[in-house]
Amino acid sequence: MSGRAELLGQVAETLLAARTIAICAHVDPDGDAMGSTLGLTHLLRGCGATVTPLLASGDRAPSTYAFLPGAGELRRAPASLAVDLFVALDAPDPARLGDARDLALNAKRLVVIDHHPDNKHYGTLNLVDERAAATGELLWELLPHLGCAAERITATCLFTALMTDTGRFSYGNTTPSALRHAAEMIEAGANVVDLYRRVYENRSPGALALVARTVGRLTFANDGHVAYSWIDTDDFAETGALPEETENLIDEIRVVSGVDAVALLKVAHDSVRVSLRAKNGYDVGLVARTLGGGGHAAAAGFTRAGSLESVLAELLPLLPSVG
Ligand code: 5GP
Ligand code: MN
Repeated sequence: MSGRAELLGQVAETLLAARTIAICAHVDPDGDAMGSTLGLTHLLRGCGATVTPLLASGDRAPSTYAFLPGAGELRRAPASLAVDLFVALDAPDPARLGDARDLALNAKRLVVIDHHPDNKHYGTLNLVDERAAATGELLWELLPHLGCAAERITATCLFTALMTDTGRFSYGNTTPSALRHAAEMIEAGANVVDLYRRVYENRSPGALALVARTVGRLTFANDGHVAYSWIDTDDFAETGALPEETENLIDEIRVVSGVDAVALLKVAHDSVRVSLRAKNGYDVGLVARTLGGGGHAAAAGFTRAGSLESVLAELLPLLPSVG
């Protein structure tokens, strides 16, 4: 048996041995975080476990993923919860688990499942594979090892994870295996048209007003190699857009031609949350790590104390420019 198959078997065995399980993904959950948390919840319930899906931040599922089966059950991680096993998903280090950090680190057993290259392997068992397009894809690969069939609700959640983390099957992580796994999910009942519409064609007027502001502020830097834009708290108040409606906002500016990297800066009172995307092979993961964050080569982020101007002054010299 290959080392990988052995690891998948070991993780499956650990999951099946637990009667009570808590599951949580990273703060400000995206499609992979929500889809993976709920997909694994359904999968393990199908195998007979008692499962509690938790949020690392916020009191309820983001409105953008409230359609996922089981989303209504999600609640903020409590200070203590007695379970046999904690599963951390899509979170490269314990800090990304937010409110669930201590619960995870104090659990009897902690299984970490993730696809971030900078994962710290902080679990008692770690299934970390940066070649996986999404954490949800890794969970799908666990299926045969768990020996339980995927129901439609599981396939729905994990397809959402894979669709969103591959940018609707368009980024470099859209590998043959990602597409094969997506095909299997569709065979298991994931409805492509319905899920696409729910995630990408279900925007509020306020979210579109925020898109207009973001595109309107597009600025080029570094001799045209970089494009960036910004939003601040007034923009939310004035447009009515919700914070979770910014998940794909950076895609509205990454489409511009001729740049190697794009940045979207979300300005708060005394800090700035920055999303980075690379084009043409530049590694923005490295840039994000330098500034205290992390992520993948093509998609990364960080939060920095300061103002729009001070964070741009730190960021732009690290991004591509002429020469
Ligand atoms: P986004 O820009 O969509 O928030 O994040 C892009 C990618 O970078 C995601 O894979 C996300 O997990 C990662 N990422 C974003 N912010 C941080 C951060 O502050 N720390 C770490 N380690 N990863 C981050
Ligand atoms: Mn992910």
